[in-house]
Amino acid sequence: MSSRHDKEKGVNVQVLLRCRPFSDDELRSNAPQVLTCNDLQREVAVSQNIAGKHIDRVFTFDKVFGPSAQQKDLYDQAVVPIVNEVLEGFNCTIFAYGQTGTGKTYTMEGECRRSKSAPCGGLPAEAGVIPRAVKQIFDTLEGQQAEYSVKVTFLELYNEEITDLLAPEDISRVAAEDKQKKPLPLMEDGKGGVLVRGLEEEIVTSANEIFTLLERGSSKRRTAETFLNKQSSRSHSLFSITIHIKEATPEGEELIKCGKLNLVDLAGSENISRSGARDGRAREAGEINKSLLTLGRVISALVEHLGHVPYRDSKLTRLLRDSLGGRTKTCIIATVSPAVHCLEETLSTLDYAHRAKNIRNKPEVNQKMMKSTLIKDLYGEIERLKAEVYASREKNGVYMPKERYYQEESERKAMAEQIEQMGGQIENYQKQLEELQDKYVGQVRECSDLTSKLDITEKNLSQTCKVLASTNEELKKSQYAMKEKDFIISEQKKSENVLVQQACILQSNLEKATKDNSSLHQKIGREDKLSADNRKVVDNYQVELSEQISNLFNRVASCLSQQNVHLQGVNKLSQSRLEAHNKAILEMKKKVRASRDLYSSHLEEVQNVVRLHKANSNACLEEVSALTTSSASSIDEFLASGDETTSSLFDELQSALSSHQGEMALFARELRQRFHTTMEQTQEMSEYTSTFFQKLMEESKNAESRAAEANNGQINSIIDFQKTYEAQSKSDADKLIADLTNLVSSHIRRQHELVDSRLHNFKDAVSSNKIFLDEHVSTVNNLTKDAKRKWETFSMQAENEAREGADFSAAKHCRMELLLQQSVGHAESAFKHCKITHESLKEMNSKQVTDVSSLVR
Ligand code: ADP
Ligand code: MG
Repeated sequence: MSSRHDKEKGVNVQVLLRCRPFSDDELRSNAPQVLTCNDLQREVAVSQNIAGKHIDRVFTFDKVFGPSAQQKDLYDQAVVPIVNEVLEGFNCTIFAYGQTGTGKTYTMEGECRRSKSAPCGGLPAEAGVIPRAVKQIFDTLEGQQAEYSVKVTFLELYNEEITDLLAPEDISRVAAEDKQKKPLPLMEDGKGGVLVRGLEEEIVTSANEIFTLLERGSSKRRTAETFLNKQSSRSHSLFSITIHIKEATPEGEELIKCGKLNLVDLAGSENISRSGARDGRAREAGEINKSLLTLGRVISALVEHLGHVPYRDSKLTRLLRDSLGGRTKTCIIATVSPAVHCLEETLSTLDYAHRAKNIRNKPEVNQKMMKSTLIKDLYGEIERLKAEVYASREKNGVYMPKERYYQEESERKAMAEQIEQMGGQIENYQKQLEELQDKYVGQVRECSDLTSKLDITEKNLSQTCKVLASTNEELKKSQYAMKEKDFIISEQKKSENVLVQQACILQSNLEKATKDNSSLHQKIGREDKLSADNRKVVDNYQVELSEQISNLFNRVASCLSQQNVHLQGVNKLSQSRLEAHNKAILEMKKKVRASRDLYSSHLEEVQNVVRLHKANSNACLEEVSALTTSSASSIDEFLASGDETTSSLFDELQSALSSHQGEMALFARELRQRFHTTMEQTQEMSEYTSTFFQKLMEESKNAESRAAEANNGQINSIIDFQKTYEAQSKSDADKLIADLTNLVSSHIRRQHELVDSRLHNFKDAVSSNKIFLDEHVSTVNNLTKDAKRKWETFSMQAENEAREGADFSAAKHCRMELLLQQSVGHAESAFKHCKITHESLKEMNSKQVTDVSSLVR
């Protein structure tokens, strides 16, 4: 597709620019430079001040070669690819266009022919495009070792007449005699191309031959002196190289590949006034300009895509028709001078070349020919030539006077021109006809399209009529259906209203459900409160328990301290009693000792008195007896007094002891009573605590049962609620199922899920609460059990200790009583002893009295 597109679009004509260096004359006259070439950027800048006007223009070309560029540079860069394409079977053309003296001939041919000193095998540096192309062709073909033939033609177009530059010498001599070269006719070849009849085709076998040929041709070239360039030429020259290369197909057939390279050295592009052509040469310049002008017009027509391209207006354009907008690849080398005096021409050349850039060619490879057909063609040619030779040798052609011949010839020429013109017209007509035919075909096609469309439309119309009828029916039906639908819609509206009512009921139910939910929440809150209260009760109970235990502890401690105090008091009392007892005994002993002492002193006094009485005998007997009696009475008195004192003493002692005994007994009783009271208290206390513990246990059991009850109640209420809710929602859902199934079911499901999850959560919370409470109660139970156990052990201990203390105090009491009894015994024995001493004293006294009385007597 793209390649086809490319083919249709074509390839632009390649345009190169070459600027020659200053010539010796220009250098001598010191001409200023107006042209600067930028080879790399492919730009040419023209700048010059003319009468204060600054001209500054830049042109871009496909390639630009400055004054320093050598022949080899230009060839390598621009021509080598073209020659390669020729070798591939393309037709290519290279034009040299420019003012006279700018180097067209130098570029195309070079100056090798003048200095024949070519280095062995190679080309001289000055060699132009033609010798280099021929050399490249031969080098390539020899390198390929293919079978080939290279033919060259070299013609000149001067004054619209074609001359063969390679024609043999003798003919040219004849022509020289005529002072006119024999012009060759230009003919249609019948295949759309043109043919120069009688043009010598020189077969070239080596590159070196080309220089001889070029020399031969150039010497024949018509030159005339002008002011600009002594060797300038107003003629166009066309050098063609045709190559035939034999190729073998895989099938073994031999094909001939054909390529052609045209190298055109155009005449100078300067106009007549500038060239200084005068007189006889004015026509010459005009003719030159005619060919060049036609070339320019052809280029304009091609660039502006005009319908008619005036190829036929000049021989040059006819010869090069295929190179301009045809199937040939074309390259134009525009040559310019850098000097200021050529500026005008330089600018026109640049414009011309720049315009030519826009020409598009559609290059095509030449069809390869079968060798056999080529041979056939050649045989035909040979036959034709043979006939000609035969006619000329036998002189059996037509003879006529020269004048008539020339007349006829000129007529023939005119006719031929007419024919050519007519041919061109016919071509145009044919083109027009083709266009018209195309148009006609298009119209016919359009017409057929339209008829087919009409048919289709008619068909459509009938179909549409049918459709219309059916549509009418359908319309009726649909109207009926509409009525039905209206009825259905009204019914649906009614049912919708019912649904709305039901939805309202459902909403109220849902609200109820939400209320239930909220009541459930409240219940749960209450439950929470209850459990908090329970916890508080348990806490309070704990606090109370601890307080009571501490009270109990304090009480027991106070009891113990009281007991201790009592015991100490008992101890002190018994000690004080013992001390009093001891004191009394000591006093008694002292009194006894004092009475003994008194007694002994009394006894001594009596003895003394006795002794005195004895000593004083009789005298004193009476006195003695009196005295004795007095003493006896005094003793009696004394004894009586002593008796009284001792008895009072004893009585006192006894009474004290008895009071002591009574007090002790009282104390012991009191002590016992106190013990009993403490015991009772402790027992009471323990009973109270045990009852309290029992109460506590009952309480905790109650709390537990209450919690369980509450839990059960909650669970029951939840289950009830769930049941009632499910029942209600089920009934509601059943009611509304007809229309709101999806909505309600999804709603119910969501609610179910919600409530279930909530209930699950509640259950979990309640069970966790219960577990917590159970754990708490069990811990409290354990605690109370522990406390009870401790308290029991403690009360047992206290009881034992109290019992031991009672036993101990009883034992002490017994011992005290024993001691008291002993002391009473002692006191009694002392009393007896006193009595005995008293009696013995009395006896002694009476004895004494008797003795004394006896004595006295
Ligand atoms: P034209 O054919 O355009 O009239 P010529 O080819 O005859 O011009 O060249 C005119 C003169 O300029 C010749 O002497 C030629 O040697 C010289 N000349 C042209 N172009 C160059 C160049 N690029 N380098 C050196 N000399 C050149
Ligand atoms: Mg020239």
